[in-house]
Amino acid sequence: MGVNEIIFDERCTNCNKNLHGRYYCDLWGRKYCAGCGSIDESCRTCGSPIVTVEYPDHRRYCQRCEHESIKSSRRIDGELLQTIRRVMERRGFHIYPDEIKIKLYKDRRNLSDKTHVVGIASHQRFSDKIEIKLLVGGNPLISTMNTLSHEVGHCWAYQHSSGEYFDQPLSEAIADFFSLTVLSNLSNIPTSQEKFVDHSIESLKENTDASTIKNIFMEMGHPTLINLLKRELKGKAWCAIPLKHNRSSDRVNVRIREIER
Ligand SMILES: [Zn+2]
Ligand SMILES: [Zn+2]
Ligand SMILES: [Zn+2]
Repeated sequence: MGVNEIIFDERCTNCNKNLHGRYYCDLWGRKYCAGCGSIDESCRTCGSPIVTVEYPDHRRYCQRCEHESIKSSRRIDGELLQTIRRVMERRGFHIYPDEIKIKLYKDRRNLSDKTHVVGIASHQRFSDKIEIKLLVGGNPLISTMNTLSHEVGHCWAYQHSSGEYFDQPLSEAIADFFSLTVLSNLSNIPTSQEKFVDHSIESLKENTDASTIKNIFMEMGHPTLINLLKRELKGKAWCAIPLKHNRSSDRVNVRIREIER
């Protein structure tokens, strides 16, 4: 065997064929040959072309995403929400959990008619609570954390705005800033989900509004940032935070990654 000879024996997760030329990789790091990877309908969470679970609302997932998804309300209410609070409160963002009610939905049709929506935070005028609706099933730890942090960010914005004025694009920017901060500061991430973290942080950074808020935070520290946000949420500051109004909900879903070799 010559010194320069490269041994390449990676195989397709699905059909075990040797991978040549163009192949595909999902967020779990599983690789697929061009034949298996060209299927259009891929797992909503990781992009795997092999979907085995289909929900009545037509969401489709691979077996692994479905298996690793977080469905227990005790885990979401307790562990995940507590982690978000811990990370954000260290940065001066106080969240009042008694005012937040989290409801889990198994069917997207009861949550929203928009296909990309996985979470909603809305203010309940009568009970004065903020309700977070979260779609469960098919979303592993990191995806659930990403959505929940985003919705908790909306709760913080609601809690600090005045009733008559509410800046929705600013609220979206704050929500994505929450996701960005929480995901960047997670410890004990399961090794299998590290790619989900990297992918989520990467796409949150592409949202320049979340990055704008993060930059103000890095430059001025949290008391200044929080004062600016509160004043702007109440309509008392004029363009203190230069947003480009990227809405996170317009971001495209995970697509399977094509790799040229
Ligand atoms: Zn294959
Ligand atoms: Zn998947
Ligand atoms: Zn949002």
